[in-house]
Amino acid sequence: MEEKRYAIVTGGNRGIGLEICRQLASNGVKVILTSRNQSRGEEAVEKLSVFGLSNVVFHQLDINDQSSIACLVKFVQTHFRKLDILVQVTDEKAHLLSNIIQEPYELGEKCLKTNYYATKTVTESLIPLLQLSKSPRIVNVSSIYGDLYWFHNDKLKEELQDIDNLTEERIDEIIQWFLTDFKTGKLQKNGWPLTVSAYKVSKAALNAYTRLMARKFENIFVNCVHPGYVMTDMTYQTGFITVEEGAKGPVMAALLPDNGPSGVYFDQTQIATF
Ligand code: NDP
Repeated sequence: MEEKRYAIVTGGNRGIGLEICRQLASNGVKVILTSRNQSRGEEAVEKLSVFGLSNVVFHQLDINDQSSIACLVKFVQTHFRKLDILVQVTDEKAHLLSNIIQEPYELGEKCLKTNYYATKTVTESLIPLLQLSKSPRIVNVSSIYGDLYWFHNDKLKEELQDIDNLTEERIDEIIQWFLTDFKTGKLQKNGWPLTVSAYKVSKAALNAYTRLMARKFENIFVNCVHPGYVMTDMTYQTGFITVEEGAKGPVMAALLPDNGPSGVYFDQTQIATF
């Protein structure tokens, strides 16, 4: 008999995250649907029960709260003893609707804190449980906005792509440099993305981190996925594709067979450059 697989989905209470939970559960995976808000998370589990899916449980997780992360780790340790799949979907709302606007500095800083630093903390906290799985997978839901195409500083682009020499410390320095330039009005001068800049930098940093993790943990398949332009709250339902289609790429990466790949970027279900 096939061994039971356990998955955590962050930001699982709505949008693409909720649909990822539904598709993983439909594939026989036991899903821990997490949400920062208890009642929104419980309602989401209830919604999935309509599809006859009883293998979804709720656990609270605010990825910006260390004690909330620790509580989730303890829960998985106690009840399941291992973790097979981690899908990170959470997103601090960015003004995605228009490509011509800029976030206010405070929102940009918050976006980097959630989309990059908190995602990294969740990853690090769950690696020991993923190491207990026979075929561990990490999926970081990214965005086409994390493409280095948006950056106009060739040296910086080279650095972010040079995975053999890039380090987590250097990514931190780059983010701090960006925030300083954001605050002091030097985004254009130093070649940073000029609209929804913090969101783009957060996803570019997440893509680079994904590759670093794939290199560091050879037994864990770590990949990032752009879901497509999806009809969710984030896009004010203006996306071109449904959540069912948008979740396909992340779910495919979560259920990758044992021949990989790892350390790649999927544009929906196709491997692309980043
Ligand atoms: P939504 O805005 O619909 O959902 C975001 C989710 O993140 C919500 O569940 C939200 O919870 C949760 N969240 C935010 N902050 C935290 C936190 N601190 N702790 C825990 N959960 C948190 O986003 P989408 O479904 O549209 O997007 C999902 C992912 O796909 C994101 O990473 C996004 O960047 C990416 N993406 C989406 C695109 C699209 O077209 N929709 C395009 C490209 C990328 P709550 O309900 O409590 O706010």
